[in-house]
Amino acid sequence: MTPQLDTAPDLAAPARFDTLPLDAKLQRAIGDAGYETMTPIQAKAIPIVLEGRDVMGAAQTGTGKTAAFSLPLLQKMLKHENASASPARHPVRALVLAPTRELADQVAVNIKTYAQHSNLRVACVFGGIDIAPQTAELKRGVEVLIATPGRLLDHIQLKNCQLNQVEYVVLDEADRMLDIGFLPDLQRILSYLPKTRQTLLFSATFSPEIKKLAQSYLQDPVLVEVARPNATATNVEQRFYSVADEDKRRVITQILRQREIRQALIFVNSKLGAARLARTFERDGLRTAALHGDKSQDERLKSLAAFKAGEVDLLVATDVAARGLDIADLPAVFNYDVPFNAEDYVHRIGRTGRAGASGIAITLATRDDTRLVSDIEKLIKKTIPLETFELENDRPRRRRDAEDAPAYSEPRSVAAPVGLAAPATTPAPRPVRSGRSSHDPFFDRPYEPDPKAAPVWEDSPAAPTPSAGANPVSGLVSKPKRRIASLLGGKTPS
Ligand code: AMP
Repeated sequence: MTPQLDTAPDLAAPARFDTLPLDAKLQRAIGDAGYETMTPIQAKAIPIVLEGRDVMGAAQTGTGKTAAFSLPLLQKMLKHENASASPARHPVRALVLAPTRELADQVAVNIKTYAQHSNLRVACVFGGIDIAPQTAELKRGVEVLIATPGRLLDHIQLKNCQLNQVEYVVLDEADRMLDIGFLPDLQRILSYLPKTRQTLLFSATFSPEIKKLAQSYLQDPVLVEVARPNATATNVEQRFYSVADEDKRRVITQILRQREIRQALIFVNSKLGAARLARTFERDGLRTAALHGDKSQDERLKSLAAFKAGEVDLLVATDVAARGLDIADLPAVFNYDVPFNAEDYVHRIGRTGRAGASGIAITLATRDDTRLVSDIEKLIKKTIPLETFELENDRPRRRRDAEDAPAYSEPRSVAAPVGLAAPATTPAPRPVRSGRSSHDPFFDRPYEPDPKAAPVWEDSPAAPTPSAGANPVSGLVSKPKRRIASLLGGKTPS
């Protein structure tokens, strides 16, 4: 099977939604969401999905792909819309499979918005939380079901839902589903579905495994590409700094202050590393939450809500936990650790610069990261200049009053991160299927900010953007300049 490539040129002027043959109920919901014009993936995919074709969507994250697949599917399902209370009149007709609970939840929130003026019912099921309310909702009947594979299989086994009337299937972030090890679950789920159906597969990257999956489960698909596969968002400023491990945290706080960044997502490679770093930032006086696989589902959703509400400044996350997060206007993403897997770089930096907004993605690379960085360069087909970072001459000192608060933030008391304040009352999440497991009860405790904690940076005059001595990244990663290292008794960089 060679997917047929949709070669339609990008529209010169962004097309308006009212040019689409969508029902007034959907148009109204689009208006409510505040969307005026279609994003490129929407302009390309919506007509193709309406036509009934299978689609392989190579869409980078944050491109508006949820609306691209769900609006036309809702349009097609409207013919079944009814106000009957009978569950039999509301069979599952569309199934959306997503790799993580956060993504499933986010997709469901979006689809509920688009379906709000119709009688179509939308439900979301994922693991890590009580199954009983989900069971009750499924038994009442839903037309659109968004699910993570593991929990869906639980519901299938418990006979909580019938999938024999499914007409539409969406595999969202399919590459990540494979990364997590969901292939056997996916295969089982797909085996329960009618053979005659429309299948849509979305993936930020197209590995040979994804192509194989598409070959097995899609029929004569149209390949819809809005950006080169594995390309990173063009509206994201990408910076790579050569930094020593022990300086990474100070580099981040300096950049936050200099660029007046109010909120950032910080990626680390391990759960333990995320917990540790979040705790250190918290001690620095930054409202910080951690998002990783050892957190309960309840804690993860609360942390995310607190971050989205602006009650948390920094979200320190691992890849699996952060997958698919959509946080409006997130200005910055830091890679505290260079990701082990180059494709994760594309996903990580896709958290900023979403839906046309601009953003900055800063990666802190040490000497040991040379190979990982060159893997990223190969994947994104771009040479990234590696810059040295000049740390300010800032001997840390304790904050004595609010005037010493970080320049990028209003003076404020160090409050407990809302998302982590509540004890977890939900059962532990399903075990993570792959990756390293680092479990340390100390670091997994909800954060209790030290009341004596104070920021340790000093207020400094607005400094220019860190100076850059550009080297090709794939060359030797150099040590950063540390002007004050010897003054503080530290090692002089060799
Ligand atoms: P997605 O890639 O589906 O996760 O969407 C990323 C973000 O873009 C979400 O917050 C959507 O609400 C938003 N979005 C989707 N389509 C549009 C549009 N046509 N105009 C403005 N924002 C949009």
